[in-house]
Amino acid sequence: MILRAAALAVVLTTLLVASPASAQTRADSLALAPRPMAPLPGLSTFWTTRAERSGYRLTSTYDETVEYLRRLESSSSLIRVQSFGTSGQGRNLLLVVAAKDRAFTPEAARASGKPVVLVLCGVHSGEIEGKDAMLALLRDIAVTGRQQDLLDHCILLIVPMFSPDSHERRSRTSRINQNGPEETGWRATPIGLNLNRDYMKAEAPEMRAFLSQVFTRWWPDLLIDTHTTDGLDCRYDVTWGYNHGPQGPAGVARWVETAFEGRALPAVEALGHVVGPYLDLRDGSDPFKGFEEGDAPPRFSIGYPPLQGRPAILVETHMLKPYETRVRATYDVVSTTLAEVNARPQELLRAVAEAEAQILARGRAPDPATRRVVLSSKLTGDSVMFMLKGVRPTWEWSEIAGAPVVRYGTAPFDTMIPRFFALAPAVTVTQPAGYLVPREWQSVIERLDVHGVRYRRFARAWSDTVEQARIVDWKAASETREGHHALSVDSVVNVRRWRTWWPGDVWVPLDQRPALVAMHLLEARAPDALVRWNFFDTVLEHKEYGEDYVVEPLARRMMQEDSALAKEFRARVAADSVFAKDPDARLEFFYRRSPWADPEQNLVPVARALRAPPEDALVK
Ligand SMILES: [Zn+2]
Repeated sequence: MILRAAALAVVLTTLLVASPASAQTRADSLALAPRPMAPLPGLSTFWTTRAERSGYRLTSTYDETVEYLRRLESSSSLIRVQSFGTSGQGRNLLLVVAAKDRAFTPEAARASGKPVVLVLCGVHSGEIEGKDAMLALLRDIAVTGRQQDLLDHCILLIVPMFSPDSHERRSRTSRINQNGPEETGWRATPIGLNLNRDYMKAEAPEMRAFLSQVFTRWWPDLLIDTHTTDGLDCRYDVTWGYNHGPQGPAGVARWVETAFEGRALPAVEALGHVVGPYLDLRDGSDPFKGFEEGDAPPRFSIGYPPLQGRPAILVETHMLKPYETRVRATYDVVSTTLAEVNARPQELLRAVAEAEAQILARGRAPDPATRRVVLSSKLTGDSVMFMLKGVRPTWEWSEIAGAPVVRYGTAPFDTMIPRFFALAPAVTVTQPAGYLVPREWQSVIERLDVHGVRYRRFARAWSDTVEQARIVDWKAASETREGHHALSVDSVVNVRRWRTWWPGDVWVPLDQRPALVAMHLLEARAPDALVRWNFFDTVLEHKEYGEDYVVEPLARRMMQEDSALAKEFRARVAADSVFAKDPDARLEFFYRRSPWADPEQNLVPVARALRAPPEDALVK
């Protein structure tokens, strides 16, 4: 503890520097002419939100929110309230469409030629400022008209309560770290799932409805996901994050850096907000060790859209700021981003079109060498120094914790800390010609449906050499995560086999928009592969076995007939003492190499095709 305090004192004296506030201001920020949330005076209480009427002590219930949205819809030709499915407990999942010229369907939106921006609120229902900010923004579009021109070159989709069942499980004690509102919902859905870990495996009814009825029907050009932080205290009222690594098409990250970070965020700062990167500290509560901006895997809201060729932005207001500040920050970030999209709609449309074209071109490229795909990345360990707009931390020894506990002061404390941002590929694979899925793996085919992955069924039998992943070494996590003992696949080899595909089996070509999502579901080493989420655990289980008095004579015969095998066995016994002392393992050595061993054991049943099946083998 004493050592820790002494080390901190050194860090504090060496790193404490003044804030170059003016360096943050960008010359082009005023071009957006941002309009902050309107002051309330003059607005009829008929149109104030519950949050506004209560002085931001309260947030509306599900029913109050529905009622407010219906009132907006009946008063304006710009708003449509739709349902995209039902929650686990049977509530309507709401999608609000705000558009000019009645572009209230995906088809009409596409025909308008305008970019579609989707805002998600209440993914974690305790973090609900997105909903209250978007109710105010919709009112300012539809009733006061002061934000109506945000729809000139943009179509706005809002999911106000992604997790309505947990939104209604309201409590004063659901968010221990958070400063209001007085009552909020909880993080997980009623069946205990975190929606912001469910984008790939799609187990929650809310996520399945969202992916199949909203994302892959509307194909939004930009997704903004609104949350409240946990983590350290600091002066930022709003932080943000995005994926910038090599998994996604580079153009969508570039759009975020140029349009959002380069132009929209300075305009948000011009409104008086203190904006910073999402601070994922390397070491618990100690900011001096720096923070990491790695890429989120696709189970997260900012990991999934880039695989579908579109940018995504995470907006996290700071948990300790008053609720009003957080609602206003969310409103200002979203409305300023919409203003940026309106100012340059073609820039966003072009970034998405280029990303889609890149994905399609890879699916049609004949040379496998040009079809390399990065499935995951890792931080290189390189850092740059970053000016943290913090409040001074000190550490006090706690008898209760048996460890030092951080206390934050209130005075501004600006200090340089390391920012770990640079990423390098971790797992790279060659994209196959396509995937082949046996029809009996219905849970896999259902995921293809949910993600909008196009496939065709076989009309007749077809045989070919294909690749299948043999899982050589894996570990199931000892603790559950999202209800799974997730597998870490440590070693996998692709084996080539002659296989027959039967009528009803599925051919998944990869010259399609969701090709990267298909790869991330079906490649065994992808960070959110179905293998990892236990979809194929049954093929890893040993189902047939031999009795010792049956296998032992078989082993004798095998050794007599194959001297190389005998040599391999003896060498193993000599080198591996655990193996040598395990009679079952010694007999299993022979069973595995005998004709009685199951050839499908440890093989992922989904195959990588070396070429497309002939047209006449497939259902028209
Ligand atoms: Zn959250």
